[in-house]
Amino acid sequence: MKIESLDLPDEVKRFYLDSGILELYPPQAEAVKKGLLEGRNLLAAIPTASGKTLLAELAMLKSILAGGKALYIVPLRALASEKFKRFREFSELGIRIGISTGDYDLRDEGLGVNDIIVATSEKTDSLLRNETAWMQEISVVVADEVHLIDSPDRGPTLEVTLAKLRKMNPSCQILALSATVGNADELASWLEAELVVSEWRPTELLEGVFFNGAFYCEDREKRIEQSTKDEAVNLVLDTLKKDGQCLVFESSRKNCMAFAKKAASTVKKTLSAESRKVLAETADEILEISETDTSTSLAACVRSGTAFHHAGLTTPLREIVEDGFRAGKIKLISSTPTLAAGLNLPARRVIIRSYRRYSSEDGMQPIPVLEYKQMAGRAGRPRLDPYGEAVLVAKSYNEFVFLFENYIKAEAEDIWSKLGTENALRTHVLSTISNGFARTYDELIDFLEATFFAFQYSNFGLSTVVNECLNFLRQEGMLEKTDALIPTSFGRLVSRLYIDPLSAARIAKGLKEAKSLSELTLLHLVCSTPDMRLLYMRNHDYQDINDYVMAHASEFVKVPSPFDATEYEWFLGEVKTSLLLLDWIREKSENEICLKFGTGEGDIHAIADIAEWIMHVTAQLAGLLDLKGAKEATELEKRIHYGAAPELMDLLDIRGIGRVRARRLYEAGFSSSAELAGADLEKVAALLGPKIADRIFRQIEGRDVVPQIVESEHPEKSPSSGQKTI
Ligand code: ADP
Repeated sequence: MKIESLDLPDEVKRFYLDSGILELYPPQAEAVKKGLLEGRNLLAAIPTASGKTLLAELAMLKSILAGGKALYIVPLRALASEKFKRFREFSELGIRIGISTGDYDLRDEGLGVNDIIVATSEKTDSLLRNETAWMQEISVVVADEVHLIDSPDRGPTLEVTLAKLRKMNPSCQILALSATVGNADELASWLEAELVVSEWRPTELLEGVFFNGAFYCEDREKRIEQSTKDEAVNLVLDTLKKDGQCLVFESSRKNCMAFAKKAASTVKKTLSAESRKVLAETADEILEISETDTSTSLAACVRSGTAFHHAGLTTPLREIVEDGFRAGKIKLISSTPTLAAGLNLPARRVIIRSYRRYSSEDGMQPIPVLEYKQMAGRAGRPRLDPYGEAVLVAKSYNEFVFLFENYIKAEAEDIWSKLGTENALRTHVLSTISNGFARTYDELIDFLEATFFAFQYSNFGLSTVVNECLNFLRQEGMLEKTDALIPTSFGRLVSRLYIDPLSAARIAKGLKEAKSLSELTLLHLVCSTPDMRLLYMRNHDYQDINDYVMAHASEFVKVPSPFDATEYEWFLGEVKTSLLLLDWIREKSENEICLKFGTGEGDIHAIADIAEWIMHVTAQLAGLLDLKGAKEATELEKRIHYGAAPELMDLLDIRGIGRVRARRLYEAGFSSSAELAGADLEKVAALLGPKIADRIFRQIEGRDVVPQIVESEHPEKSPSSGQKTI
């Protein structure tokens, strides 16, 4: 089907023709035949790189040029940025693009001027909770990676958000994009959508198993030269010889770093002098933004043409690795599956070194087929590689047979709603009531009947778990104690702040009962909420943390009895996480924190981002409920944001000054922007370097014009904003 023949405005067709897209891929053509451009709901379950985003673009552009508005929902912030960058290309068609991934308690009314808004599912949920007016104007909703409905963490929010959007705008077109899943038909029926399922790919994908020196796929067998002792390194070398790049998936961060290091010396030998020079520049870029042991190892790998990629790296470091790989400079990325989940980073050969993953409940377990398919799907760069190869590595004949049967020939699993527990439902019940989607019990059940959970488990009966949620919300004072469903001001605030009602209840109780309000008391209160992400306890942590608890017992709201082993162990994890935050706000270096807590720089930022948000919630709740702690929590919120002591706060308000520079200025006798304004430029330049000093003076003197930001992002308070200013 030719682009020329589509029922689209001429300027849209011209846009695609100019960018070299002349004809639709087969699954795209099928979607058009099934009503994509006539406003029909559609679920496309097709492999990555097979043109799913283009489908969404066609539907969005058609609707927008007829006066509509599109919302594009993604699961990850990194994906939101990727899509935002792509859709910005439509500005030549006069289309305005916005992105919203930041603060959860903002309405973001200004975003409504845009024609396409890209948002994470959590942010979409929070915009709905804050009754953002423009949401009623949406004519197309795209739900990217909709199979994540199956995820216990993110799934419930995604399905409730879709249910709310459909209830609010019944005529709105829903376009759901999914990986291939077993029950795509069921998902499509729930969405009242046409279904396009296809295995078609623009680049051929060969899936197979490496065993005993050869790669076997379907009817072929390829011998791989055994030039080193490590089979995966040999597979990498074989790819590099044919001018390809490799993605290697490992089960843990430790293994993924070890493999990048192991392959480095061999890969380095294959590099030209020019490549080494370019890679050295990339390595220097890494060292410029981070000086932890991990980034030093990363830079050393990058000099040799390899890299590792996992959630312990900060966002800017991950971006350097991704860009270096896309540009063909970095030849091999060894990654945990984080990379497979979202980013568009294909490679000629994907090597899956480990098909098992650690789970805290069951130990090492084989990964689901769906996850394998996501990783394998990264093989083959469209238009660049003649084919892609996905290789599982077997160590025995039995394993060889197992891998063929259970992955290569296997169908992806069905996906299942995870909304049916009190933990998942509590927050959505409150928000549904707070937003007026349900005013009576029957209306609430009616609303929940529109979720995928109710669709899938029609015989289960939601009433038991809904009643448990309602009892909890009434008991905690978030709903009036009447039969009608009426939120209290506390309940409304909790819903708007986008916090789990259980977290809010714990915070309120903690503030009432706290005898002291030290930094530790408030940090631990924040860490004791279910919204917090906790550090794991390592064997040698127990004694240290236990000793710390003994010495500071009076600062905790409550210390559980050590005889209740499970509760006490959980408590120790909370304390460990509080201690990381305490080191962070006391200006310990990132490297010191990483070594002490056995964690990555990316984890410190992720934990600080969540803690900052829950501390913000704490201040708001204390204010509303007239409890002590509002002032202290507000101060701590800012300190967590910057990772610094109180005396630096004024300096930290200056853009471009982070904790390290602020401390340098403070030690030299400057404690505020007013004092800096009267200072000698050269003296400040000696402390911070001439470029930064000049920028700061321009700012203080008001000569610095802040560029208009198109995105409605609020990096100062958004979770996972990544690297902060040093
Ligand atoms: P997905 O979202 O499924 O990963 P994309 O829509 O991003 O895939 O498409 C992957 C690449 O293929 C993009 O570079 C896109 O421009 C290109 N592409 C998509 N559809 C076509 C087509 N019909 N003809 C040529 N290139 C296409």
